[in-house]
Amino acid sequence: MSLTAITDRIAAACAAAGRAPDSVRLIAVSKVQPPERVEAVIAAGHRCFGENRVQEAQGKWPAWQNATPGIELHLLGPLQSNKVRPAVELFDAIHSLDRLKLAQRIADLAQQVGRAPGLFVQVNTGDETQKAGISANEVDAFVRDVTALDLPVAGLMCIPPADQDPVPHFDLLADLAARNGLTGLSMGMSADFEAAIARGATHVRVGSAIFGARVPG
Ligand SMILES: *Cc1c(COP(=O)(O)O)cnc(C)c1O
Repeated sequence: MSLTAITDRIAAACAAAGRAPDSVRLIAVSKVQPPERVEAVIAAGHRCFGENRVQEAQGKWPAWQNATPGIELHLLGPLQSNKVRPAVELFDAIHSLDRLKLAQRIADLAQQVGRAPGLFVQVNTGDETQKAGISANEVDAFVRDVTALDLPVAGLMCIPPADQDPVPHFDLLADLAARNGLTGLSMGMSADFEAAIARGATHVRVGSAIFGARVPG
């Protein structure tokens, strides 16, 4: 696979769904990948990347950001309370908002730092105990509470259970977003991004299909 193969498939999925090709943002998930693979994708002109861990991202992205203007970074993994400051300083968007305390801390820091990341609320659509995210039935109240902190919510994010058809989860997330007036839908990974685009995804998070299998660290 390569970057152009994926962007072609995204364009085809958009066309099939009657959507404009630029209505879907491709987040290239570079976690744990060898630097030369990431550098090749930057050199190919891609600018939007996703990482799972604040510390890992802090170690590698500032140099690439200095070398290449216009890099956009998305945090996809869980955010610990003691990592909120570096996260707000480094990331343009956070896809794992799932606690009001975290929202409060982001709101405070956004004031101090003078920039607020785009925020996606993570929804545990499969109610999996090992997975982060709030329950579907908590979404309405949570979005209301976050918005009350003067923090705009960009949309919702989900990671469907690995052993299930993801489509009902994508539909649930789309319904929850629509009824809360949210336009952003962060859903779809290497195995299912086309199905996610068919159900309205605005941000697909694609790692291994672009970079190759992650080498276990
Ligand atoms: C790793 C990861 C991805 C990318 O997964 P692939 O299957 O490699 O495309 C997407 N979203 C999240 C939250 C991830 O942790």
